[in-house]
Amino acid sequence: MLNILKYIKPLKREVNNLFPIVVLLYYPFIILSTIGACYLPSLWSYIREVIAFGLLTSVLFVVTSLFSPTKLRKYLIVIFNLILSALVFIKLIFYQQFGAKINASALFVVFETNTEEASGFISDYINKSILFLFIGLLLLSIFLVKRLLFSAKFDEYIFVVPRLCFKNNVLKGFVMFLFLLSGYVIFTMFYDENIIIKGLSSYNEYLELKECLKTNLAKERSENIKVFPNNDEATYVVIIGESTSRWHMQLYDYNRETNPLLTEIKDELFVFSNVISPHTHTILSLEKVLTLSDYWYPNKDDNASIVQLANHAGFSTYWLSNQRPVGIHESIPTMIGNAAKYKYYVNSDDTFHDVYDEKIFPYLDNILKSELPKKMIFIHLIGTHTSYKRRYPEKFNYFSGENSKTKFKHENSLDVVNEYDNAVRYNDSIVRTIIEKIKEQNTNSYVLYFSDHGEDVFDIMDSFGHNEINGTKPMYDVPFVIWLSEKYKRKNNSFFTTNDVLERSYNLEDFIHSFSDLSNISFDQFNPSKSVFNKEYVKSKRLIKNGIDYDER
Ligand SMILES: [Zn+2]
Repeated sequence: MLNILKYIKPLKREVNNLFPIVVLLYYPFIILSTIGACYLPSLWSYIREVIAFGLLTSVLFVVTSLFSPTKLRKYLIVIFNLILSALVFIKLIFYQQFGAKINASALFVVFETNTEEASGFISDYINKSILFLFIGLLLLSIFLVKRLLFSAKFDEYIFVVPRLCFKNNVLKGFVMFLFLLSGYVIFTMFYDENIIIKGLSSYNEYLELKECLKTNLAKERSENIKVFPNNDEATYVVIIGESTSRWHMQLYDYNRETNPLLTEIKDELFVFSNVISPHTHTILSLEKVLTLSDYWYPNKDDNASIVQLANHAGFSTYWLSNQRPVGIHESIPTMIGNAAKYKYYVNSDDTFHDVYDEKIFPYLDNILKSELPKKMIFIHLIGTHTSYKRRYPEKFNYFSGENSKTKFKHENSLDVVNEYDNAVRYNDSIVRTIIEKIKEQNTNSYVLYFSDHGEDVFDIMDSFGHNEINGTKPMYDVPFVIWLSEKYKRKNNSFFTTNDVLERSYNLEDFIHSFSDLSNISFDQFNPSKSVFNKEYVKSKRLIKNGIDYDER
């Protein structure tokens, strides 16, 4: 009996002394476990998050207890508390906005974002509950740190009690075991839940992808394709839109007049009704849409892009972008665009500023004036990217009041939907103006318009934006619209001869084959079954995320 008491007494004292440390380190975990329960959609992902975060906290707890009771230990506790609180805050924002945990594709976007854009993102997404959460967490941290850590009583504990786990053998053994086990389990079983590990590995992946793009795709010519030239005179235009979902387009039966100008010339257009983007983020999506990469072969080593294809076929290629290039050589679409012979980056502001797509017109007019016989013009719009209200000039402030089609009706959704619809309406005027400019040329031409991905604006989720975690239908459903000149139609009268061509189900990850078909560019890796225009087109499974069949969800 005495023997047991010998162990229990000091153990009890140490446990008592540990109390403030335990409270300080574990309260972010308790907040995650309680508030997270309200947001996470599936019980299983909630349990995983709670276990993973509990383990991480335990590891930090052990690290703290390994230090001698000096001021260092004290500050370590404050730092760990701040890290854990920040992690909980980030996780809860993701839960609250998207109903799921942070993932690699969202992190890719963070890596491509500069600080100004991040502040724009914050201003777009900040709402009362997030603000409340942030202030609540901050006040709680300050209160607890002050109360527990910087009190005379705690000083007494922290300096009197020597290094915890070296005092008592039983406790030492137990805590060390917990430490090693937690570390092992975090790395092996809860990799996905750990933002720090996930962030580091995603960043590595991101750098690899960029390196691969730099060596392959940023160059004018590619060794990976063989192209058979033709001598057609032509002016072809590919418009790459941004964050425009066909769910908000009048051309696709939306209940508001968001496309008055394209609807006016609907008879001249080929409106494809069943096209999706491979991803819901610009960089991941365009890496597949504009190159040979697809679901089965992402980040291909022997990759080539549609820009290089056009270069090889003897076109004068133009990359006219209204998206900030982020240090010219940095962002992924910029690298693909860098293969063009002539590059124009019209906009140096980020998405947080007022950026209107009409800025590209003077550049386009100049390009069209040039006498070069074969022009391939890629136009990368800022489109309907957040902040929506910064995408259109005042005179396009057209919609007001509540739209009956909005699924989630409240004060915030009303404004955001109106702003998005105004941006779509402005985008309509941009695409129509480009078509008119090309029409005036009266040459062998096409204008093709699609968006890099869609956007959910209170359609399926009670929020707005695009993210792969939720990956709702409006985030994948993109417009795909073509205008052809009379000369083009005469030259290629076999096009669109089958009736069902406009309804074909298509994933833009195969776009390079459609592009090659439409532009009359033959190359060695052309696969007619992957061209949405071709007679030999074959419907194939549209796989998204980790192998989910888009059509069977
Ligand atoms: Zn995008």
